[in-house]
Amino acid sequence: MRLRMPLLPVFCALFSFCVFPLEGALGQAKPAADLIVTNARIWTVDKARPQAEALAVLGERIVAVGSAADVDAWHGPQTKVLDAKGKLLLPGFNDAHVHFVDGGSHLQEVQLKDAATPEEFARRIGERAKTTPKGEWITGGDWDEQKWSPPSLPTRELIDPVTPDTPVWVNRYDGHESLANSVTLRLANITAKTTDPPGGQIIRDAQGNPTGVLRDAAQDLVGKVMPPMSRARRMKSIHQALEHAASLGVTSIQDMNPSYDDVKAYAELEGKGELTTRIYVAPIEIDWKDQAKIGVRRAFGTLFLRMGAVKGYADGSLGSETAYFFDSYTDDPKSHGLLSDEMHPPSAMLQRLKGADAAGLQLCIHAIGDRGISMILDMFEQIEKANGKRDRRWRIEHSQHLAAKDFARYARLGVIASVQPYHAIDDGRWAEKRIGPDRIKRTYAFRTLLDNGVRLALGTDWSVAPLNPMWGIYAAVTRATLDGKTPDGWVPEQKLNVAEAVEAYTMGSAYAEFQEKDKGSITPGKLADFVVLSDDIFKIPAATIKNVKVEATYLGGKPVYGGLE
Ligand SMILES: [Zn+2]
Repeated sequence: MRLRMPLLPVFCALFSFCVFPLEGALGQAKPAADLIVTNARIWTVDKARPQAEALAVLGERIVAVGSAADVDAWHGPQTKVLDAKGKLLLPGFNDAHVHFVDGGSHLQEVQLKDAATPEEFARRIGERAKTTPKGEWITGGDWDEQKWSPPSLPTRELIDPVTPDTPVWVNRYDGHESLANSVTLRLANITAKTTDPPGGQIIRDAQGNPTGVLRDAAQDLVGKVMPPMSRARRMKSIHQALEHAASLGVTSIQDMNPSYDDVKAYAELEGKGELTTRIYVAPIEIDWKDQAKIGVRRAFGTLFLRMGAVKGYADGSLGSETAYFFDSYTDDPKSHGLLSDEMHPPSAMLQRLKGADAAGLQLCIHAIGDRGISMILDMFEQIEKANGKRDRRWRIEHSQHLAAKDFARYARLGVIASVQPYHAIDDGRWAEKRIGPDRIKRTYAFRTLLDNGVRLALGTDWSVAPLNPMWGIYAAVTRATLDGKTPDGWVPEQKLNVAEAVEAYTMGSAYAEFQEKDKGSITPGKLADFVVLSDDIFKIPAATIKNVKVEATYLGGKPVYGGLE
């Protein structure tokens, strides 16, 4: 009863029939739950009641959480009762940073990430070319030349012999570099004479000829000549992405840089009731006026599809040596990295962000190098001065390498660090040789961020990294690099514990999209989005968390993957 009482106002607002749920008081029966899950080990992520054994759902919301006896008071003749068999039940995961359509599309594309040699890389592309219809491109791939020994960027010569007529445009897994074959270079009219665009680079051989790898903004040269994604292909990608998310317990995603066609497709699916993951979209910041002119503000929309955020880029990535640093790269003393093309010049970026903020839009800015991050914090300070203080929840996407002075600035400005722990165990293989022993201490510094009172939102950057939240929690908790060389953790003082990682992946991400009242914990009144896991990640050895499977995913009280009996 104690738990149900605060729910009354929510309840009455939601249901017009609104039967007053106090038995006896008005001589009326209280409404029964549609669903009760019992015999669960519920980790609620709600500080008011961290653990429970049962929950009840009415409509799409949780109405009771507590002991089996507490929740049984909601049992009626039509109530479905499910036995969780003592398994761990958590709030659904909320991935704060994905590229959803890319992810779905990559599930169908050539897979290069685990191609361990240049020969295997070329073989897979050649195989794909055999089944690719004339006129279609080979795209995707997610290659990682760091897996080759010795690591060296792929070249068009490697794949030209197996793709004489098929355009190839395959991306590095971080999205900051892609490889074109000669067919594609010809279509894009890229030759030895083509100059590097601002914020980008055409990699060239000793004679000055393009090798096929284009870095950051130079990738747009090919982007411009690529045939647009067909509607059928986009829909297939979204369906695949939704299915994949449900199978991994991801009940909410925050989609960074979707195209307007993507948003349109989501809206169509929402209308048909086919979204099995809740979506918040953050289209590119340069087009902020599109949302502003019709008065859309942060977190505008329905429980399934919302907008009102913009996503921008300050710099590139560590892997591509384009993250922008105060000091030069340890392994390349001439380079500090690159600012993105949006930052040419920074004053233009500031002006756009100031306009977007004044219009009430939420700002989510990709910044990885310490100087890129600092420049964005400088802009946030100036925007606050110009537009006044309010609850904005600015986000710095990735927040990878911080200057010592900036932890406190995050906290003071209320900036959320939107981080992807999988990147830490991936980059951790080689990051130190790139940035040296001092900067490494403030790299993926999740612990220092929390200690400074900074809020974390967890995510994956899928398709850059796997969408599976178990890998994210495993990475945050163990910091064991993918090469197996640091089983006790790389920069281990920055580890999180399981409870902190789960909280950041649920409440933290919900807060980052202004949805903490509806999502993020198993609390009466909130949406019934939850997952049941095969194993208890609080009890098993941390090294095995990555193997844990989702047994059931519920969205708004309905199973969208697996299910209980
Ligand atoms: Zn991203």
